[in-house]
Amino acid sequence: MKLLPSSLLAFCSTIFLVSASAQDITVASPNKQLKVTIAVTDGKPMYSVTYNNQTMLENSPLGLKTNEGDFSTGIKFLSKEESTIDKTYEQAKIKKSQVHYVANKLSCTFENAKQHKIKLVFQVSDNDIAFRYELATMGERFACVVEKEATGYKFPATTTTFLSGNMQPMTGFARTAPSYESGYQADAPMGSGNFRTEGFVFPALFHVGNNGWVLLSETGVSSLYCASHLSDYSKETGIYTLDFPSIKQNNGFGSTGAALSLPGVTPWRTITVGDNLKPIVETTIPFDVVEPLYEASRNYKFGKSTWSWIVWQDASMNYKDQVTFIDLAASLKWPYILIDALWDTNIGKDKMKELIKYANAKGVDVMLWYNSNGSVNDAPQGPRNKMATAIERKKEMKWLKEVGVKGLKVDFFGGDKQETMRLYEDVLSDANDYGLMIDFHGATLPRGWERMYPNFIGSEAVLASEMLIFSQGVRDTEAFNATLHPFIRNTVGSMEFGGVLLNKYLVKSNQNRNQRLTTDVFQLATAILFQNAVQMFGLTPNNLSDVPAFEIDFMKKVPTTWDETLYIDGYPGKYSVIARRNGTQWYVAGVNATKEVLKLKLNLSIISGKKVTLYNDDASKVAYTKELTIDKNGVFEVEIQPSGGFVIQ
Ligand code: CA
Repeated sequence: MKLLPSSLLAFCSTIFLVSASAQDITVASPNKQLKVTIAVTDGKPMYSVTYNNQTMLENSPLGLKTNEGDFSTGIKFLSKEESTIDKTYEQAKIKKSQVHYVANKLSCTFENAKQHKIKLVFQVSDNDIAFRYELATMGERFACVVEKEATGYKFPATTTTFLSGNMQPMTGFARTAPSYESGYQADAPMGSGNFRTEGFVFPALFHVGNNGWVLLSETGVSSLYCASHLSDYSKETGIYTLDFPSIKQNNGFGSTGAALSLPGVTPWRTITVGDNLKPIVETTIPFDVVEPLYEASRNYKFGKSTWSWIVWQDASMNYKDQVTFIDLAASLKWPYILIDALWDTNIGKDKMKELIKYANAKGVDVMLWYNSNGSVNDAPQGPRNKMATAIERKKEMKWLKEVGVKGLKVDFFGGDKQETMRLYEDVLSDANDYGLMIDFHGATLPRGWERMYPNFIGSEAVLASEMLIFSQGVRDTEAFNATLHPFIRNTVGSMEFGGVLLNKYLVKSNQNRNQRLTTDVFQLATAILFQNAVQMFGLTPNNLSDVPAFEIDFMKKVPTTWDETLYIDGYPGKYSVIARRNGTQWYVAGVNATKEVLKLKLNLSIISGKKVTLYNDDASKVAYTKELTIDKNGVFEVEIQPSGGFVIQ
């Protein structure tokens, strides 16, 4: 190749620089409705987003800062490449089993003041934008630290928000925060409330007035990066910025930012866009842009699990009560029992071997709880110090495989730093070597992990069922929170909520204390609304005789994996109705968080003309079921009681 004289190169760059700002670079979705415009303004890379020509994101910053140079200012546009992506993949444990992802791809190469190059890659499908930065080697540098991202999101001023505050590090139970459990506020104006030093967690939902909806998140976060979140709203600039974890996480130990080997890439920042909520509920973008990082060591089997701890609490962590919950799993024909914290001291490894044999003889497999710690917080529950280091972990997992344990629930992680992402990945990777499925509790949001790690089930990262036991405030807002999950938390990742509580009172005696404020059918509906490939449900042995038999029959049959998920109706915080299909069987489920009886006229063309079973609450909130036939045109009218629900099967 003949080298151009440097003066001519500079001249070319100048021309491109001019053309980049004067004539913006755009990339549109295959159906042309979603459009991203990229420009360099005063040396700063910027982007904006429209959907059907309506503004969804105004001019917003791009770029990042490394210890080897700044890629957020002094930037020159060099060149662009365009291509298309058309891929199909199968995934048994997300909202949909067969996914077809079609996107237009735009890669822009920029150069910073030191003439180091950075590529900005946008992939735009009909309702999703995924973008990331790709860094090249920088002279002799084959490694750098990403200290800060300039990436930001500037919404039109009328936008309202559905955001969850990022918890203060080293606060809460045994200093185990942050764990994505502060709950969401619905429809709040941007910048309302007190300043949040820790910002807001992903996913974050925005209602852009009449223009539509935007869901922000990120995916593809592995051991090679930290997890990120949104800053608080800047009243000066009107921008939410992508922020790295607080240095205070993990007791102040470990860096924030990301150490990258070069060439290296950042995780994908995702923007799901629609003029209604359907694309928000149905998005598969967290999984579309990632690939499996290793092969499954065995054919992992998903399904339902009993779980004594949720209602019977610590007192049940003994041999006898675990036998009771193994028997419960056997009578429900559920494949699993989860044996929670304290088994190491209250049951012990020798007796555990016996207990597993007992379970297996009844056709039930065992999952065991572990503390992820370590050194990052004060969570006292055992087993401790078994998952935090490779040597102990592999020793323990070898034993777990020998005694026939099929999966682990690992709890109490420290936060979002890269060193914690390494721990998540190390636990997953080692567990796969020993045929163990992994569920995370007290944990971060999973970011594409269902696809990246074949033995990953799901994570808590939600104000989950445990808080229904612990907090009156959470019992009061149970219906409100349930209507949010299909639109926000659960739409980007499997959610281990641990629900379907059929006790009227959420205590072992089922009387006097902790009254449940939602109906039985509300609880059944959450088995469909909330998605996790293994569901640890909250049924207790007394439910076999103290709730109507049709409720138990429903819980025996309800699947935990889905071939398809559809938005039917709803508004986050008020009500939600979604449909999920397993094989040829559709389930439609809805819950109502308003104070009124909700009368809905639904379009159920997926089951038009079909004979179905309806589960619903009557006017006095008592559960009933009946057979009926859906109209030929698919129109179905249903009433949902306040804090009630319905299911059609
Ligand atoms: Ca928790």
